[in-house]
Amino acid sequence: MGKCYDDKKRQINTDDPCNPPQCSPENLAEKTPQNGPLAWFGKMIQNCYEYASEAKARGKRIVGIMCEYTPRELIMAADAVPVCLCGGSAEMIPVAEEHLPANLCPLIKSTYGYHIQKANPFLEMVDLIVAETTCDGKKKMYELMGRIRPIYVLELPQKPTDSDAMVHWVSELRKLKTKLENHFGVDVTDEKIKQAIRIMNRERMLRRELAELMKSDVPPLTGRQLLEFKSIISGISADLEQYAEGIKLFKSKKLDSQKNSGVRVLMTGVPMVHGAERVLDIVESHGGLVVCADNCTGLKPILEDVDESAVDPMLALAERYLRLPCAVMTKNDRRLELLCELAAEYRPQCIIELIWQTCTTYDVESYLIKQLAGKELGIPYLRIETDYSPSDSARIALRVEALFETVRQRAGDTN
Ligand code: SF4
Ligand code: SF4
Repeated sequence: MGKCYDDKKRQINTDDPCNPPQCSPENLAEKTPQNGPLAWFGKMIQNCYEYASEAKARGKRIVGIMCEYTPRELIMAADAVPVCLCGGSAEMIPVAEEHLPANLCPLIKSTYGYHIQKANPFLEMVDLIVAETTCDGKKKMYELMGRIRPIYVLELPQKPTDSDAMVHWVSELRKLKTKLENHFGVDVTDEKIKQAIRIMNRERMLRRELAELMKSDVPPLTGRQLLEFKSIISGISADLEQYAEGIKLFKSKKLDSQKNSGVRVLMTGVPMVHGAERVLDIVESHGGLVVCADNCTGLKPILEDVDESAVDPMLALAERYLRLPCAVMTKNDRRLELLCELAAEYRPQCIIELIWQTCTTYDVESYLIKQLAGKELGIPYLRIETDYSPSDSARIALRVEALFETVRQRAGDTN
């Protein structure tokens, strides 16, 4: 977003510069239509900027989040707009390294670089940032960010299946609710939370339905196109309409078995936030088709809904969000179970795991994922550790090609 926001004019530039050049492959640009849902989500940052600006002008508050554990429903129930602040731009990293260690996850550095540069228009709009205690790098980065911005730390339990974890988590969510009420002078009622749950459930259901199109032998869209169906602000009614349009469009699309018949890939690991889609692009431009991504920019946050009929909606939120299978938790067995379920449904021929450099939690867990792929699922596995710089793209492409060659040889052997 370095170039997408003109700090002096305090406005967003319109030539979609939020995508760093290396993350915007020519083939995607060529395939992106001028109208329809893909075109709509192609302008996602612009759409969100207009939405947030109008909301702010009407007196609504903007709340930044940086992790899927924060229930957006609570923020919406406080009559505020939740916006994801995770940075995906390589351009923000050098300035971040003036304060942070170079040896740190690019997602954290990029997010922080935007903060230093005042280059993320959404961050400049926020009235509060919810800082989730996920990994150590993020936790400590928040401390620096919090020196000049309003931060509220949401403490996540570490052992999600322990009996007292839920007690602690519910208490943390109730404290967040109180903070929102006091900070913004609003009442967060059960009815408002239930209304937000209904909106978020609808959004999750629509995005799930889109993702499920990839179960087909010849999916009607690519993994990259599916990844475009997202928004850094949830619950925008125009987005919901476009998700529904996308389902209609791709369900009725005449299938081209030549086009979408690459090696079926399940991508796992760290989130591929807006602007940091490079590895997926490499995979799909070298003969792969990402039929499933279980990460936080894929299926993980949309697989389960919140119980709309629950008597206590706070409890329903707590239960649903604590079930998220993230590597920052110990143990994280649910991730392995989920991967098995997804492998059965989406029938990948291999697993590619993306690890952002120095992401210790996902990196350590990659041992288990490799074992799962080889021993339980019987499919090849490739671990790619990288950052936001394109300098290793050619090397990644070679490794991806070698993986696909193995897959093809195996398929040949079994025919
Ligand atoms: S990967 Fe884990 S820490 Fe990162 S956004 Fe997802 S839930 Fe949060
Ligand atoms: S990718 Fe890993 S290191 Fe980076 S913010 Fe997420 S959990 Fe932390």
